[in-house]
Amino acid sequence: MPVYHLHINGLVQGVGFRPTVQQLAIQMGIDGWVKNGSDGVHIICKTNLENAKAFYQQLLEQPPSNAIITQHLFELAQEDCAKGFHIVSSSREAHVNMMLTPDLAPCDHCRKTISESDNQRYLYAFTTCLQCGPRYSIINALPYDRVNTSMAQMQQCPSCLKEYDQVANTRHHSQTNSCKSCAIQMHLYNTNLEELPISQDEISEQLAIFLQKGKILAVKGVGGYLLICDAANKEAISSLRKRKHRPSKPFALLYADIEMAQADLSITATEISALKDKSAPIVLCRIKNFPENNLDLEGIAPGLARLGAMLPASPLLQLLANHFGKPLVATSGNLSGSPILFQDQKAKEWLLGIADYLLTYDREIQAPQDDSLIQFTSRGQKIILRRSRGLSPNFYPINFQQDTKNILAMGAELKSSFAIATGNQIFVSQFLGDQQSLESQMAFDDSLQQVSTLLNFEPSKILIDLHPSYQISENGRKIGQQKQCPVIEIQHHEAHFAAVLAENGLLEKKEPVLGFIWDGAGYGQDGQIWGGEIFLFDQGSLHRAAHLAYFPQLLGNKMNKEPRLSALSVLKEFPLAQKLIRKHFSDTEWQFYQQLLAKPVEVQTSSMGRLIDAVACILGIKPIAGFEGEAALQLEALANNCPYPSYDAYHLPITHGIIDWRPLIQEILHDWQQKEPNEIIAWKFFYSLAKAIAKISGHFFIDKLAFSGGVFQNALLTDLIMEQLQQKRELFFHQQLSPNDECISLGQLAWHSQFYKKDQSTENQKYQTNRYFIEQS
Ligand SMILES: [Zn+2]
Ligand SMILES: [Zn+2]
Repeated sequence: MPVYHLHINGLVQGVGFRPTVQQLAIQMGIDGWVKNGSDGVHIICKTNLENAKAFYQQLLEQPPSNAIITQHLFELAQEDCAKGFHIVSSSREAHVNMMLTPDLAPCDHCRKTISESDNQRYLYAFTTCLQCGPRYSIINALPYDRVNTSMAQMQQCPSCLKEYDQVANTRHHSQTNSCKSCAIQMHLYNTNLEELPISQDEISEQLAIFLQKGKILAVKGVGGYLLICDAANKEAISSLRKRKHRPSKPFALLYADIEMAQADLSITATEISALKDKSAPIVLCRIKNFPENNLDLEGIAPGLARLGAMLPASPLLQLLANHFGKPLVATSGNLSGSPILFQDQKAKEWLLGIADYLLTYDREIQAPQDDSLIQFTSRGQKIILRRSRGLSPNFYPINFQQDTKNILAMGAELKSSFAIATGNQIFVSQFLGDQQSLESQMAFDDSLQQVSTLLNFEPSKILIDLHPSYQISENGRKIGQQKQCPVIEIQHHEAHFAAVLAENGLLEKKEPVLGFIWDGAGYGQDGQIWGGEIFLFDQGSLHRAAHLAYFPQLLGNKMNKEPRLSALSVLKEFPLAQKLIRKHFSDTEWQFYQQLLAKPVEVQTSSMGRLIDAVACILGIKPIAGFEGEAALQLEALANNCPYPSYDAYHLPITHGIIDWRPLIQEILHDWQQKEPNEIIAWKFFYSLAKAIAKISGHFFIDKLAFSGGVFQNALLTDLIMEQLQQKRELFFHQQLSPNDECISLGQLAWHSQFYKKDQSTENQKYQTNRYFIEQS
């Protein structure tokens, strides 16, 4: 009888792949074995060719529900095997080549299990099975086996071991298996760091009582600690804001189930399936006119029409939400702007200053991740606002040909992430915060270290942003020095464009694409701050085809958070209108800025983000924002309230590649003088941007349009663009990544693969794809 070797790669570990293989083999009367390796799953099967092919086919067509197969191979094997079919010990090769399984939210079966009083796992907060449980957050080495996770020290009790060994059991070979007899222990502390003497089963009920009394809790979640309080309690929310130093950035809500969320929010079918997805992200949903749960909306999401909602990402959070029975505010456990806390000791030190009680448990988090945040436009276009738990670090199935085998891309400064190209895989880290803070730099380093260890990765080339004063680029240069490898600088908006081209498989194609790259700020090749850019990708090369007319950049980064400075800069051209914003400055400030504006302009900007800020400020929205983009969010909310969205657009003419914003501002000022309601002006403004995109694409005679940059986080603008152009042009948006700067790291990898002109003197070390693999069609 012949023996065959099957090699299957992709997202195949921690998803119940081996048990599925074993079960199928036994059903089909096949002898052999299956094992995990650092490069996927290997199967040996002894049977006739016809049967082996049927077996192979069925695995490819019906893999476990959470699996993603990206590569597979079927070949004749040289070895023999014993009778029966077994799961054998994993092997660990030096070369790691596989996707990393993200954390999986509780499956329906496990959710049910913990609420059935006659079940042995009733109220057990760490119930998991083959389909669900923590994965990425608890691994410290590959392949994915219990010994390589935070579960290593915990022994399974006889009953769990029985489940673990039983073919067809939902916990057969489930690496996170445990039950009340071999439980992961929880500990509840008060602010004096005294552990409260409460039995494990009563803890979630006790937490619900605390919440009822208006207390703030710090609770260890999947990727880190969360701060939680009653979403109807004004005082609790206001003290959470004060203690966390987070004046206005919206909070997300945790609901026990969809039905509870539907009492407050209008949720579309697409949003429901996103909420129920195994990645359990926060999904922004429209607030009903009359929410039923008595939410403190002004405290939760001041001035916004949408609320972030999520379902419990772990059984522990599910139990808490069930016991409380009402919506909860749930936000990352940190001081505003710092990385999420995930180590128990640090959480106790820092979070008990914010929370009244802290709940921890004895399973370490290895890889911290915030909750992911997504939204859908009214037309159903998905926009990722923060890519983290459940979504990162895998990026698939696209890979680009690189001239170097192991490349590290350092990404951008404010919404940072790194990307790694190694083997046949690309990894894009989670959102890693603003790299201007030391804590975020440390979190970045830790995360890079953790992924590098998992993947056995050593960079042989570093890609950084061109910005001369980005801390993250400086760190990239240092790594380059340490590792003695070349460091390549890449322009910010070119990286944005390359990212969206790569995500849509357009890089390899020769057809021209016009890229609208609109964001807050990026360093341009002419030394100015870019951000309202239009690029042309044609015949495999890329150039800046047009941009927003420059206006003065005032006080560098300060402008990002102070829309009043953008307004001041734009209104330099309209002296009579300056009185509109005079009230947002003190006398000293006004004098100082007038003097500054009178001097010759040193740095200019073409930023669309800043133009949006200026318009928001002219309409009286926040002159100083709590966070970058806040004014834009509020302007979008205002525009969404426009009663009859059907008006003429303002003019945004383009001549010789310069988009002149002055007519637009002039007409806005005119409307304002005519006492046109702000809602209408705001709507007309976004409509004008969409109209301008339509006009410019006609001007260049190009059918394929791609969009990247933080401005395209705006759902209304995205919808207006689709409404204007979907029938006439092909539109390409980001799919797996956020349009904001989180996509820069991947964009740097993509840019490098396509546009980097190799030094002729260096050896041609073109990267060879693994010849053993047959790419999945
Ligand atoms: Zn489960
Ligand atoms: Zn057990």
